[in-house]
Amino acid sequence: MFCRQCEQTVGGKACTVAGVCGKDENAAILQDVILHLLKGIGVYVERAGISMAKRGGLDRFVAKALFSTLTNVNFDTDRLKSIAFDAYAIREKLKSDIKFDGELPEIVHWIPKEDLKDLIEQGRLVGIMQDPELNEDIRSLREILLYGLKGMAAYADHAFILGKEDEEVSNFFYKGLASIVDDSLGIDDLLNLNMEFGKANLKCLEILDAAHTQHFGNPAPTKVSLTVKQGPAIIVSGHDLLDLEQLLEQTEGKGINIYTHGEMLPAHGYPGLNKYPHLAGHFGGAWQEQQKEFDNIPAVILMTTNCIQKPRDSYMDRIFTTGLVEWPGITHITALDGKKDFSAVIDKAIELGGFDKEKKDKDILVGFAHNAVLGVADKVISAVKTGKIKHFFLIGGCDGAKPGRNYYTDLAQKVPQDCVILTLGCGKFRFNKLEFGDIDGIPRLLDCGQCNDAYSAIKIATALAGAFDCDVNELPLSFILSWYEQKAVCILLTLLSLGIKDIKLGPSLPAFVSPNVLNVLVDKFGIKPISTPENDLNAILHRKGGASMSKEDFIAKIVDLGYEWAEYEHEGVSGIAIRKDENKIFISDEGIETQDWEKIKKGIPDLTYMSRIVGYYSRINNWNKSKLGELKDRHTGDYVVKDSCK
Ligand code: SF4
Repeated sequence: MFCRQCEQTVGGKACTVAGVCGKDENAAILQDVILHLLKGIGVYVERAGISMAKRGGLDRFVAKALFSTLTNVNFDTDRLKSIAFDAYAIREKLKSDIKFDGELPEIVHWIPKEDLKDLIEQGRLVGIMQDPELNEDIRSLREILLYGLKGMAAYADHAFILGKEDEEVSNFFYKGLASIVDDSLGIDDLLNLNMEFGKANLKCLEILDAAHTQHFGNPAPTKVSLTVKQGPAIIVSGHDLLDLEQLLEQTEGKGINIYTHGEMLPAHGYPGLNKYPHLAGHFGGAWQEQQKEFDNIPAVILMTTNCIQKPRDSYMDRIFTTGLVEWPGITHITALDGKKDFSAVIDKAIELGGFDKEKKDKDILVGFAHNAVLGVADKVISAVKTGKIKHFFLIGGCDGAKPGRNYYTDLAQKVPQDCVILTLGCGKFRFNKLEFGDIDGIPRLLDCGQCNDAYSAIKIATALAGAFDCDVNELPLSFILSWYEQKAVCILLTLLSLGIKDIKLGPSLPAFVSPNVLNVLVDKFGIKPISTPENDLNAILHRKGGASMSKEDFIAKIVDLGYEWAEYEHEGVSGIAIRKDENKIFISDEGIETQDWEKIKKGIPDLTYMSRIVGYYSRINNWNKSKLGELKDRHTGDYVVKDSCK
């Protein structure tokens, strides 16, 4: 096996003996077999030009099969083998139903071996290292596309379950899969395809958002209790809101408390789900805590999608799976005509009896999806215009088990009080139980939802850009993302396809991104790895005069150069005003934001020059829009004070 699709891959290189995630070699190779067959289907659909109308249930199958290969989803070799043979049978039926006489590559005729041992040997030859001679940048770009497709498949599957699909999204699965085995595509073609994919994934996020909000209503700010109540309990983890709804319906009036876990937390914001009084609260933290959280509790666990870890013996008999998530030996609940019968889960919860006493804890706030935030857009915009909100930080993505993720807790805590944090995904469990307070009634921590709800953050950002008549990159908004698995890859590609720059990514860079591909991402999009919370905040907020100069040092230097200076504050914009001869210079403490420009000019009528504390300043009548934009993008560096004011 050779798998490096997630952040916890062995040594930051690849899992080659067994997965850190718990995936054994057979499961890993069977997933490669599934992907090989899906690529063959992709090639056939593309070459034969089979339209969505003629594909019937194929689109749904492809999304499900891809989703089954995502990290922490399916560990069951029997099930994975059966998905592989379904893919083979579907491909053969497609070829016989819709004939294509043109030339076809060997992958379209590849036949999986029936015997598991033979199939595994055959599967060893079709993984990502299939061609050891392949150019590493091509392999890297193919992998990025493949992992993006897996992430989009997860979102498409959630949308399908709620009756939504989209032609552009479905078509891209085949185009992407076929492109991964198209040797005629070079580096530029694959880069462009990854950007095209990002746009298709935006569409997918949009239909999923519509599926959720049309079915469950728009999320609204909602307090969620972390208190564990006395009585029988079912803990629901994963992302599938429909499973939660069906379980809530089937447990009504039975005296069972239903708790969300991990990425199910945002469910509490939806009116269609929080109307059930027995949706009692939220239990635990992010997915990687589950083994110790589920140990020794008298509660049943239902895993609805990805995020399962190897269950401990202590709860093997009280954990259930449903949907695409499966673990060998664990009872799996299947759907019949879209309905699931959770009787076994409910009976087990009653048999266990649940928690014998209440364990009191605090409340947290969720439900700040796009509709809720944009509903108070006027308030937010006015707070930005009056300088009460200086900056927005989107700190989101996946959580994970590897060390180094305390960065996100420290960063959130160090974000200045006049800044707002938007968050989504399970990365928020690093800080969502902390107190952040509010700015004029706007909470400083706004939880937009699951990783699936990246669409909300994008909608909020584009709406703010519209309100300020600027580009998203000109907003006082920074993206600091954490990645773990492939859904983060598809969201990152969507952000890049929208032209969003200067994203900071951590806790480590993906093993599948080659050095040259990384250079392209850095050059084109300014992607940077996270460093320390202090350095990153300084760089984002331009708080220092450069790595080698503090404000104090800068002032000492300008005094040496013969300037007079004074602290200056006007309409919430602070800095120092300095004067030499007849020229006045304003130097901002925290960098000059576009919206501060007019305020500063009004506050110092005879202002001649302006700068941040970097020892670099210029005549203000030389400043145009791009100069302002340039200033906004400037980060810390090794600046030198020069007397260029004469
Ligand atoms: Fe390793 Fe991650 Fe692949 Fe699991 S999914 S085998 S942990 S790289």
